[in-house]
Amino acid sequence: MAEINHAVKGTGDILPKEAYKIQFVEKQMMETARLYGFREIRVPVFEHTEVFSRNVGDTTDVVQKEMYTFEDKGGRSITLRPELTAGVVRSSIEHGIIYDALPQKVCYIGGCYRYEKPQAGRLREFHQFGIECFGASSPAADAEVISVANQILHSVGIEKISLEINSIGCPTCRKEYQKALTEYFSAHSQELCETCNDRLGRNPMRILDCKSPVCSKIAEKAPTVLDFLCEDCKEHFEGVKKHLDAMGLNYSINPHIVRGLDYYTRTVFEFVSGDIGSQSTVCGGGRYDGLVAQMGGNQTPALGFAIGIERLLLLLKNQETPIPADKTCDLYIAPMGESASVYSSKLCSILRNDGFEVQTDICGRGLKAQMKYADKINAKFSIVLGDNELENGKCNLKNMSTGNITEISLDNLSDELLTAINKSALDDLNESLGI
Ligand code: ATP
Ligand code: MG
Repeated sequence: MAEINHAVKGTGDILPKEAYKIQFVEKQMMETARLYGFREIRVPVFEHTEVFSRNVGDTTDVVQKEMYTFEDKGGRSITLRPELTAGVVRSSIEHGIIYDALPQKVCYIGGCYRYEKPQAGRLREFHQFGIECFGASSPAADAEVISVANQILHSVGIEKISLEINSIGCPTCRKEYQKALTEYFSAHSQELCETCNDRLGRNPMRILDCKSPVCSKIAEKAPTVLDFLCEDCKEHFEGVKKHLDAMGLNYSINPHIVRGLDYYTRTVFEFVSGDIGSQSTVCGGGRYDGLVAQMGGNQTPALGFAIGIERLLLLLKNQETPIPADKTCDLYIAPMGESASVYSSKLCSILRNDGFEVQTDICGRGLKAQMKYADKINAKFSIVLGDNELENGKCNLKNMSTGNITEISLDNLSDELLTAINKSALDDLNESLGI
């Protein structure tokens, strides 16, 4: 029974006092993506397993080792999504989005599930914000997608983060590269880890992504993919760089980026930071021109990225980036006695309809305990309702941070409260400006 009091390993809770941070980040993401024309898409948390493990030869850790796969009561093989791209592609084919006016731009926020070793920045349930753009093959599209990620990271206040880009070519030029890599790594096969030895026979590019120190050391001197790009891929990559330059985005070229999923072609990129430990990638993405056709749609160029939301929050915390404070209760109404309590319910209803956050006593507490609670929840203002106030139709509006008291009319509470909130905000601003 001990389990009942603990979240499952690798999962976490977002508590009410912290939720405003994630809400802020998610709002910035959605609003920034909208500036580029991306509209939200929501897809199921689970899909048929084949949506994710499309080909038998898949060599990625995500598909080979990390998926939560189970049989449902109807005997179907179901997988909790380890990422959203495959589900979004499935949906876009199923609902004909990719046959509509192109390009189609979609964005999403959702939970992802991977059976990984939990550590800082690596969870078994985590959340991604991502975008996908269908039907655009030009380098301008790559730069636009990268720019969305860049603008999002800046919009939440991140100032220090690096953009690394690479091109992993198309299936044609990659063949030559794979050959050269196989030759290089075969000479080191004795030192490579067991998984990489398996990768050697199936997809040597995966070795470049291995996190083991020995393998990554060997990978450092491996042939680089950029030397093997065909003319078209080279030209595309040059185009992407030109557009990025025009947009004023700084980047470096990292020929070791191969990304963790098999469907990428040409441009791949990551936003990385040294401030979140070894899980340094906050955002990863790239072009995947073959995936839509592989999943049964017409050949459609596509690209996108995903940002790990927990990792982004960790980065904000570690870089001590300020997040706008949570909004607090506008007014606490403290009734004394039964009829005041009923009247308070009436006032609360009016004020909430007018858009104020208002709380009153629902525990039957005395005045002292109520005021303590009003303090605790950081109410901006409070009023006490007793027999006198009900008789006179007037009450004292108390500014909880300054202690200032203004007599106001209960009939006009909404207007009086709005004036008081605005005045207090202005006073705070003047004080912070030293006026
Ligand atoms: P990594 O190399 O860190 O394992 P990945 O290549 O598996 O990343 P993607 O599949 O491209 O990552 O996912 C995009 C983003 O989602 C990552 O950059 C990261 O921010 C986040 N992410 C991936 N796996 C996890 C996880 N287990 N826990 C938390 N965030 C994650
Ligand atoms: Mg991973």
